[in-house]
Amino acid sequence: MSEQVNPFESLQEQVDDAAAHLDVSDDQLERLKHPERVLETTLSIEDDDGSLATFKAFRSQFNGDRGPYKGGIRYHPNVSRDEVKALSGWMAYKCAVVDIPYGGGKGGIIIDPKEYSTAELERITRSFATELRPLIGPDRDIPAPDVNTGQREMNWIKDTYETLENTTAPGTVTGKAIASGGSEGRVEATGRSVMLTAREAFDYLGTDVADATVAVQGYGNAGAIAARLLDERGATVVAVSDSSGAVYNDEGLDAAAVKDHKNETGSVAEYADADEELSNRELLTLDVDLLIPAALENAIDADIAADVAADVIVEAANGPLTPEADEVLADRDVYVLPDVLANAGGVTVSYFEWVQNRRRFYWSEERVNDELETVIVNAFDGLVATFENRDLPTFRMAAYVVAIRRILDAHEEGGTFP
Ligand code: GLU
Repeated sequence: MSEQVNPFESLQEQVDDAAAHLDVSDDQLERLKHPERVLETTLSIEDDDGSLATFKAFRSQFNGDRGPYKGGIRYHPNVSRDEVKALSGWMAYKCAVVDIPYGGGKGGIIIDPKEYSTAELERITRSFATELRPLIGPDRDIPAPDVNTGQREMNWIKDTYETLENTTAPGTVTGKAIASGGSEGRVEATGRSVMLTAREAFDYLGTDVADATVAVQGYGNAGAIAARLLDERGATVVAVSDSSGAVYNDEGLDAAAVKDHKNETGSVAEYADADEELSNRELLTLDVDLLIPAALENAIDADIAADVAADVIVEAANGPLTPEADEVLADRDVYVLPDVLANAGGVTVSYFEWVQNRRRFYWSEERVNDELETVIVNAFDGLVATFENRDLPTFRMAAYVVAIRRILDAHEEGGTFP
């Protein structure tokens, strides 16, 4: 079953498959399949009742050949050491696919944030930031938001780091609020790259995403914004879901109104303007043109993949397909646009935020969106060229071939020390 698929093994399989198309030595391959280091720590805070509460937390620094480690911090009960390692690897490959000068990292705390007050979450976050302090910094490792974290947590991390270091260093984290040195367009960036990737993919296939019907699994930052931007382009978003349920309307849902409903009620379920509610499986196997998994890893296993009816999948989540699902979908000629391209808008605008922080000079939203579009379209074109020229079986493989080559080039130029 899908829960048993270890995301770190999935990552390693993806790297092995792509490396088979490149001239990579066994030792180089080891470096490409394992993090350079992983911090595992036990955070302690006093909860609101004055008792001790402890939480296990991780930060994996996967590869730093191309620049500082970069990647989000996730708060979720299912966080594990292997999940964080996998996510840090996906960050390294993602940054290389879009050619921004970063390595890959990722962090996580095993916690259900819904069970804690804001004051407790602040103490937990500051405790983690204190543990991270020797490892992070604008030239070393740069955290950002991920599942269940956002501007609020990034502002706390920045403030903790700056206070302890007795400096100002806004580029220590990205995804901050504008008032704390964040960038215009950062909140929308992940969803925007999903929309841009879908647009380019449909164009490549000779159709227009504006004519597409769309189903979106997961209505957090990535899913809800991708749905809204696709809706704005004219696509028909017929179904969306979150962990509480899925809603469907064959005439199309108003993606922004569904988000408002979720903000008010905590869920997309029971949205008034929907014809019916669907199960998670029904949503993933709906007869739509475009399916966007925007929740967590392993959402689509081989069994579900066999019933997927969409022609194109654009991965907004990290690692939403198991390797077996990937194979089934490739055999069925379903085009899968991989996470390392499709959701790379988030880290790309993180990079723009970091550049702005370093220059202390801030861009307009229009400039951010224009530069993001250039990065994603160039990366898409590069991936298509590799896919076609090397006659590779999937876009994912093409993305890894491009990324591995870039990481190896950086390592070869730098050499090995000691
Ligand atoms: N958590 C996001 C991702 O998985 C963003 C990372 C970042 O901005 O560094 O890509």
